[in-house]
Amino acid sequence: MVRIENYIGGELVKPASGSYLDNFEPATGKVYSEIADSDDRDVNLAVEAAKAAFPSWSKTPPEERFELLNNLAGLIERDLEALAEAESVDNGKPVSLARSLDIPRSVANFKFYATGAMHTWNESHETVGKAINYTLRQPLGVVGCISPWNLPLYLFTWKIAPALAAGCTVVAKPSEVTPMTAYLLSKLCIEAGLPVGVLNIVHGTGPKVGSAIVAHRDIKAISFTGGTKTGEDIARTAAPMFKKLSLELGGKNPNIIFADCDYEEMLATTIRSSFSNQGEICLCGSRIFIERPMYEQFKGDFISRVRALKVGDPMDADTDVGAIVSKQHFEKIMSYIDLAREEGGTILTGGNSVAMDGRCADGWFIEPTVIDGLPFDCRTNQEEIFGPVVTLTPFDTEEEVLGYANSVRYGLSSTIWTENLSRAHRVAAAIESGIVWINCWLFRDLRTPFGGVKDSGLGREGGFEALKFFTEEKNVCVKI
Ligand code: NAD
Repeated sequence: MVRIENYIGGELVKPASGSYLDNFEPATGKVYSEIADSDDRDVNLAVEAAKAAFPSWSKTPPEERFELLNNLAGLIERDLEALAEAESVDNGKPVSLARSLDIPRSVANFKFYATGAMHTWNESHETVGKAINYTLRQPLGVVGCISPWNLPLYLFTWKIAPALAAGCTVVAKPSEVTPMTAYLLSKLCIEAGLPVGVLNIVHGTGPKVGSAIVAHRDIKAISFTGGTKTGEDIARTAAPMFKKLSLELGGKNPNIIFADCDYEEMLATTIRSSFSNQGEICLCGSRIFIERPMYEQFKGDFISRVRALKVGDPMDADTDVGAIVSKQHFEKIMSYIDLAREEGGTILTGGNSVAMDGRCADGWFIEPTVIDGLPFDCRTNQEEIFGPVVTLTPFDTEEEVLGYANSVRYGLSSTIWTENLSRAHRVAAAIESGIVWINCWLFRDLRTPFGGVKDSGLGREGGFEALKFFTEEKNVCVKI
């Protein structure tokens, strides 16, 4: 059985505890590998390695950083098929999705920031006749990157790549639920010749490894993606130490459909925005609001398309909906379906776990579930479920739907479907979310800032925002 070891000081090393956690394959419900059960001793070693590497890495010319990170991107691309399979086994997502989304995006993350390293700049301001002020952007030092299980390598590299490109050295922790591709990445880092200590990957649980990273005095910044509750805990520890924080947290995103939309395109995209990755994408639109004249037509067409989705073995090419990432998460989702029933909702389709045959007989599968008849402010419509569960709610006016959309504590993303240009821009401006898609979903230009408002987080990732996050700005004033 594969043992997932830490990557510290350029080598794969055993955890100080000598103990390992079980790693499950969600599609079979069986243990298939073991993860280093690390603690603060391993984090301390990783920080020491990162500190030792910082003076040289921070002074490495951007062109050399580009070469190394671009080579790493090339190795991920070379191993795309193996990494996609590993991601699918570890997470339960259809291998087709890992092949088309997760791993290509991990390649793109490294390519984008490899080139980005060569395109940074410092501003200067002339105080006429007196002085020139310039801003010197310098890498922060050792930084911490902590990522979740839903898009494992995709989000792990989305943090690591800009940190390394900016000249920081990194102590990183992938989710203990999906550690495999981060482990495979550490082997690729060795193959690519990444200098010793520049990137360190410590595996283990949030309370032991994550909190030790957050609490470590020598870690200057935390880039975190995960749940809102964890984000609160991290902020509580990091804020009194004045660490820089980037927190990408939970969502409960509205998908607003006006009757004048391009119906076919909306329907096809709404299937994806509801159930891609088993609904385990922070950007999935789990609250669907439909303008009343179209409500019954949409309901009928949507349900028949949802019923046509194939829940199946993630390894099968024609599977649309794979396994839920863990038993614990499976139980959480099922409890929310029960809650929806208690709150008076009607299950229009789905609502049950799926009993599979063969190798997946003990896996964690849930039918894509569509519910209506619930008020906008009930718990089912206010709390993040993060599974293949959506609700349908009719609305009559723009003002009413904005009230529904903005009623939640979250503000990550939203989708608006309308052919009315003025309305599209008006609603986009009024909606409380960091990301708005008009007549599309999940399209991402890596140059644009990404992040949430309200309880969906703090700070922006993507583009030069992320490179700036990993630098300190120093103002230098020269008398002339
Ligand atoms: P989580 O918060 O449970 O865990 C995320 C990471 O934090 C894991 O690596 C975990 O081990 C670690 N962690 C847990 N407790 C910690 C602590 N006390 N200190 C430091 N680290 C700790 O989240 P999850 O269940 O892995 O992921 C699902 C959540 O992530 C959902 O809420 C989803 O919306 C959110 N998410 C947000 C975005 C975004 O971009 N905003 C993207 C993906 C996922």
